[in-house]
Amino acid sequence: MRQKIVAGNWKMHCTVAETEALLKGLLEGKSQNDRATVVVCPPFTSLEAACNLLKGSHIRVGGQDMSEHPKGAFTGEVSAEMLLTLGVSFVILGHSERRQYHAESDNLINRKAKAALSAGLTPIICIGETLTEREAGQTEQVVGTQIDGVLAGFGAVELGKLVLAYEPVWAIGTGRTATPAMAQAVHRFIRERVSGINQDAAAKLPILYGGSVKADNARGLFEQPDIDGGLVGGASLKADEFIGIINAA
Ligand code: PEP
Repeated sequence: MRQKIVAGNWKMHCTVAETEALLKGLLEGKSQNDRATVVVCPPFTSLEAACNLLKGSHIRVGGQDMSEHPKGAFTGEVSAEMLLTLGVSFVILGHSERRQYHAESDNLINRKAKAALSAGLTPIICIGETLTEREAGQTEQVVGTQIDGVLAGFGAVELGKLVLAYEPVWAIGTGRTATPAMAQAVHRFIRERVSGINQDAAAKLPILYGGSVKADNARGLFEQPDIDGGLVGGASLKADEFIGIINAA
């Protein structure tokens, strides 16, 4: 049985004070579930406060992005080591908003994933098709190409240390969720594709679903055999709602 993971992507929300208030809400509520690893991914400016507040708790901290480079003249960038030394253990890579607004390619995401793994961070690598691609019947082709690109050069060892997140772009922040059956079909396809690299590692690989996950639709999604939890945007900004999702896992 794969351990479930519920990760909250806060995007560009929460000052330090708002971060502390939200995390206190999570710590005071029933946000611990033995079957699920809980991760919060606040913006860079709140990571230190989050790591300090969550030290010794069941909640892990993730970054929302990082540089492919270890250091140097890269204005505005943050390295894997900078995240790690704060106490961060996960990092989201290749989110569709990074792909859309910052032109991130599968190749760049692959290089970032290599840098994250060699520093000891667990990458949560995002893939997913747009609405146009889905309606053109290209979902498997698009997702398959993304998998091949972001996992290029990886074998069983690397696959054992990372997480994939299937996030159909048309479901992110739109309130339009893939049905459990639709999501499961793509998750099964993803696991089969990864089996082409290593069957055993593919069977153990956590594959999260993301796209308008809420407390009231999480259970149906998480019950699917190839869905191992969720990457949650909007609903992770409300303690009660996020706790509902954690408890559904
Ligand atoms: C996300 O940004 O990763 C996401 C899934 O957002 P939302 O849950 O708001 O759709």
